[in-house]
Amino acid sequence: MGKLIDGKKFADNLCNKIAEEVIKLKDKNITPGLAVVRVEGDPASAVYVNMKAKKTKEVGMHSVIKILDKNTSQDDLLKVVEELNNDKSINGILVQLPLPKQINADSVINTINPDKDVDGFHAINTGRLWTNIDSLVPCTPLGCKMLLLDELKDLTGKKAIIVGRSNIVGKPMASLLISENCTVTIAHSKTENLKDEVKKSDIVIAAVGVPEMIKGKWIKPGATVIDVGINRIERGGKQKLVGDVEFEEAKKVAGAITPVPGGVGPMTIACLLHNTLVATCKKNNKEIPKFF
Ligand code: NDP
Repeated sequence: MGKLIDGKKFADNLCNKIAEEVIKLKDKNITPGLAVVRVEGDPASAVYVNMKAKKTKEVGMHSVIKILDKNTSQDDLLKVVEELNNDKSINGILVQLPLPKQINADSVINTINPDKDVDGFHAINTGRLWTNIDSLVPCTPLGCKMLLLDELKDLTGKKAIIVGRSNIVGKPMASLLISENCTVTIAHSKTENLKDEVKKSDIVIAAVGVPEMIKGKWIKPGATVIDVGINRIERGGKQKLVGDVEFEEAKKVAGAITPVPGGVGPMTIACLLHNTLVATCKKNNKEIPKFF
């Protein structure tokens, strides 16, 4: 039976360490500030944004939430982003996705000052990541990397497969794993023989958005499985959260596996706070603490 990777415990520890660093910064009259912008219309986003604000305050940071009407125009949203770019009390800006259809998400993301882009989605940060220049790294892949390093210590030479090629998870994950000396395969909806590709892999990152699509019998015995997926399904008349991996079967074969919930999810918020701390330290010429 594979070991359960406790992302919640890891994330709680990371948040405690971040809170200690925030105290040290506050002693120097520096308070990290994170602003989250949400355009109304997506109920799940409201839950995520409130959770982010709660955690931000828990680690002692300054938290700002801007909620805009669902009919907000692109120009109005860009104005809010510009204001936050110019706000000295704000070190990190996140615009919650998805955005309504009248808004072009790429132009909003690329309007955020790259040094405040704590989601790490700005084209400049993407370019920095792929060219090994110090950058703000997208939170979910960063959290996955932390869990993998904690579990395996050294990823050198491992064969890794990432199922999913999105800009926010799959692609940055690939860059991070290449930097850790993995041999990386990126799979997507057009990949042929996905099962065989997964079977060859020592590390499986599932970021698909299809409930339990990756079957337990596809997993190589002893592999490390990181399930990014968050899918709400109904089972036995009850609402349930499941990942992209068939967890009950996969855990019988895997060396270690993240559960859903309690795996990657809590790491994403912890990494957002980590990135806000990093952005604050950089802005104030303070040493960036190393947590992993
Ligand atoms: P996207 O929808 O942007 O991307 C999904 C990817 O999966 C695409 O590349 C798509 O391929 C691929 N895909 C879809 N169907 C298949 C298939 N049958 N076989 C192989 N590949 C397939 O999703 P995200 O990257 O934004 O998110 C992925 C999952 O992770 C979702 O469940 C999401 O909720 C979750 N998530 C969780 C986070 C957390 O904090 N834990 C944070 C972010 C996301 P193609 O490109 O060809 O269409």
